[in-house]
Amino acid sequence: MNRQFADRVKTIKQSDIRRYSAICGAMNGVNLSQGVCDQPAPDAVKDAAKRAIDEDRASYTNLRGITELRQAIARKMRDFNKVTCDPEAEICVNVGSAGSFACVALSTLNPSDEVIVFSPFYGYHVNLLKLFGITARFVDLKPPSWSYTQAELEAAITPKTRMIVLCTPANPSGKVFTEEELRGIARVAEKHDLWIATDEIYEYITYGKEHISIARFPEARGRTFTMSGASKTYAVTGWRVGYTIGPAEALDRVAVVNDLLYICAPAPLQYGTVGGMNLPESYYIEMRADYLAKRQLLADTLRSIGFTPFVPDGSYYMLAAFENGRWGTATAATESILNQVGVASVPGSAFYRDPTLGDNQLRFCFAKKMGDLEEACRRLRKLGARQSLAAAV
Ligand code: GLN
Repeated sequence: MNRQFADRVKTIKQSDIRRYSAICGAMNGVNLSQGVCDQPAPDAVKDAAKRAIDEDRASYTNLRGITELRQAIARKMRDFNKVTCDPEAEICVNVGSAGSFACVALSTLNPSDEVIVFSPFYGYHVNLLKLFGITARFVDLKPPSWSYTQAELEAAITPKTRMIVLCTPANPSGKVFTEEELRGIARVAEKHDLWIATDEIYEYITYGKEHISIARFPEARGRTFTMSGASKTYAVTGWRVGYTIGPAEALDRVAVVNDLLYICAPAPLQYGTVGGMNLPESYYIEMRADYLAKRQLLADTLRSIGFTPFVPDGSYYMLAAFENGRWGTATAATESILNQVGVASVPGSAFYRDPTLGDNQLRFCFAKKMGDLEEACRRLRKLGARQSLAAAV
């Protein structure tokens, strides 16, 4: 049979995030590659989902998601994000925040439109755009502070630009965009009449810096899609419950696309998410304290073996630089570490518009149970600090 595949999938391959996660699983290693977040979900979340299953809440939900969840999202948007929204018209529950991004992109962009993305980026943003025939144009964030200038942002705009994609706190850099940066982005979007799509899935995971939603600014609100979900906040990445907040007219489109692609997010898991959203403030405070300790342990370990970690202000990833003389490329380093001590990471090259910019970096995920992270760190320490010098001579 002469099998034909669509042009749109010809240049797309499995992500390095999943690839090293799978290899690690097969060899029973410790997985610090994919951000799977393998920690226990809160009982309130699990109990609410179990109750929904027991009560046979098993049918399709409203195409925008169950009312209870949309009301809980509206409350959370008001209290935490400082964004008011109408749960009937301005919220849609999606199949994960990646599902949200797919619906937003399909609702607003045509093939050959251009979108601004900050690099390093989350590959699923860029590859979903590619799948839809949309071109990403990049603004470089420069380590260690992941800074960029307003002039660089302006310079990336062309007559074909339709949207700016943000991720704050960012995967993989951990950058938390400042108010000044966000106001600058809002200004550019207004000037060139662009949409803004902001992925805020790590919004509760910050270390001393305030998470700011760009939709909080009146000048951005009418053109912004805020995307988030339950995955990271309640450690349920496989549940695939995400959501979009945006202007009513745009959300009508997002809801229809969501219906066509997915019908709805899994009904009992939407109820489970409501259980999470009713948790007290202390849950979030404890989660942040837990991640802070894990960030410290991983940063100390990486330093002790000769890496230079870029300690994140938010999210649960850490990019860390190494000397190329030690292992060669980032891919070689990932594989070498996996083979030597059974700890998986992701090559930094997977996250940059020009892969060579990340070829001296690895991304480590620290969303692990403390015992597993300690085991990973024990193994990493076996690599020793001095190998780079030995390898260089
Ligand atoms: N967001 C997570 C990461 O960056 C998981 C992504 C995925 O598996 N698609 O690792």
